[in-house]
Amino acid sequence: MTSSASRAYRLPAFVRGSIGWHALMAAGWAAAPAAWPWWLGSIAANQLAITGAGLWPRSDWLGPNWRRLPPDASRAPSIALTFDDGPDPALTPYVLDQLDAAGLRATFFCIGRRVREHPALAREIVRRGHAVENHSDRHHPAFATSGVRGFVREIDAAQQAIADACGHAPRFFRAPAGLRNPMLEPALARLGLRLAAWTRRGFDTIERDPARILRALTRGLAADDILLLHDGHCARDAHGQPVLHTVLPALLARLGDAGLRGIRLDEALPADARPDGTRSDDIRTDNIRTGDTPRSDDARSTDACAAPARPDGDPPSPHLSSHHE
Ligand SMILES: [Zn+2]
Repeated sequence: MTSSASRAYRLPAFVRGSIGWHALMAAGWAAAPAAWPWWLGSIAANQLAITGAGLWPRSDWLGPNWRRLPPDASRAPSIALTFDDGPDPALTPYVLDQLDAAGLRATFFCIGRRVREHPALAREIVRRGHAVENHSDRHHPAFATSGVRGFVREIDAAQQAIADACGHAPRFFRAPAGLRNPMLEPALARLGLRLAAWTRRGFDTIERDPARILRALTRGLAADDILLLHDGHCARDAHGQPVLHTVLPALLARLGDAGLRGIRLDEALPADARPDGTRSDDIRTDNIRTGDTPRSDDARSTDACAAPARPDGDPPSPHLSSHHE
């Protein structure tokens, strides 16, 4: 198994309640079989609620789920840009160059199969100061119907692919389309992974109007938001160009205007959960990389997934909305 240390699994209150509800209904059924439609209906209603929680990507009813960065008053106002479904040779290098130019770090939720196809690109993401995290091995539409063993098998295959390419196993997982069931959390606990959703997204895999995507991503934008974009499966605009070509530069400019730094999800972990124990503000800011010139070997981190960061400078006063999605 390729993972960080396993973590304890705590049965979420909603799941605990559902188990109790099922037991109660079963006991009622045994005691009063004639009322079976009532017992059956009650169980079905609970099953419906469980399914609904699994279909709601930002729900935390089935276990802990990062929908925003954990608050940290000592951190400069920051957001987390996340890019799903890569690495993609057609779009990921463009995203990396844009992030370089803006001086932001980001998190890439990569598909294991694609990492095996493009290991050098996955390595390049990390080398340029970003994080590669786990977005399943195959991104299969039926992912959410798995049991614990199926989840572990699928997610661990991607852990292995990313560790082989980047030299470090991910610490976060994002479910394909955000869909899951109650068996995912025990699987993630066994693999030592945290589930990450998002604060807002622009549906950039299906929406062809860049202005609408940008609006959805920035309406009520605030510090600690997690934004979801895609460097794989990206929709194309009316001119046949990936929508990200228009959306990303405009979004990065908006973040700069608001004085929001871009940090990786792992930089928002508690210090004792980071491999090197550093805070995001403590990360070395020398060995800056711009353009495509490789850094010298002595500037390269021994931990490929904890590459040195670029400087963010002193951000101007943020103009933040108090509205959260
Ligand atoms: Zn995806």
